[in-house]
Amino acid sequence: MAHERIPLRLVPDPRPDEPTGRDTGVLGAVEVLPGTVRAALLTRTGAVRDRAQARFDATSADPAVVDRALGEAARVWAGHAPAGIGVAAAGVVDPAGGRIIEVNDAPALRGYPVADRLAELAGAPVRVEHRARVQVLGDRWFGAGRGRRSFASVATGEVLGVGILHDGRVLAPAGGRSGAHMTVTASGDLCTCGRRGCWKTVATTRWLRGRAAGLGLAESGLGDLVGSADPVARDLVAAYAENLVLGLATVQQLFACGLFVLHGEALDGGEPFRALVEARLRADVLGGELPRVVLGEAADTGALLGAAGLVLSGPQGP
Ligand SMILES: [Zn+2]
Repeated sequence: MAHERIPLRLVPDPRPDEPTGRDTGVLGAVEVLPGTVRAALLTRTGAVRDRAQARFDATSADPAVVDRALGEAARVWAGHAPAGIGVAAAGVVDPAGGRIIEVNDAPALRGYPVADRLAELAGAPVRVEHRARVQVLGDRWFGAGRGRRSFASVATGEVLGVGILHDGRVLAPAGGRSGAHMTVTASGDLCTCGRRGCWKTVATTRWLRGRAAGLGLAESGLGDLVGSADPVARDLVAAYAENLVLGLATVQQLFACGLFVLHGEALDGGEPFRALVEARLRADVLGGELPRVVLGEAADTGALLGAAGLVLSGPQGP
């Protein structure tokens, strides 16, 4: 099992926003993916002090392989007493039970009691949430959503989804989903869910690559398409932005988020893509606060920051 230390990396401009009166110590964060466990030690302002990563055999059904990986990664907290540990887990999770219910392609994670294991390893309380949902908490405590009571975080690229903070709470009802399968067109390509017209069939990397190939474009990545001088590439980028807005406009109309923080592939599109999405979204809203669209932090710390935000957020109550 490889255990790699990743060089210390500071989040730019760490500033505390809301005093909470909770422990002033460090925070623990864990990301669980098929075959990989990442762990970090963070300050309360979201600065990553140390990170560690351990791999496990994703094809194994033996939970002991995950135990060993967590044990390796937990060394990042040696000599510290985290106020709590947040876990951002892929797959289907049971936040109340502190378990991972199921992760595709990682049978050892089925029913895995990650909260109990980590509590034994680190001696701290542990909270578990789905990876896509915690991103909004990272933005809320450490990122572009700092100080706001309502906003949305948007995962773009291979995975599409929206996490919503509404009046200080993450909207995460049991059985609720992240929006990828909202019906946004009356026809279109077949979705992985077996239906047609889902948002993810027109607003993910797969759609963009497919269209770029169909148009005979040399570029297929969003960054290259945005930078292209070819008007066909520019039209495709505009169409992609519009498709993204098909979902975002619905979210804005239902929840009046006011701010959308883009993560993932959208960052490759940079300021030109951000501006396109914002302009389209503003054209689609009906009165009220004109929504802003901003780019989130670099992708690879997003889930860990969200997990740390889970610790600061505490239980949400009913
Ligand atoms: Zn679908």
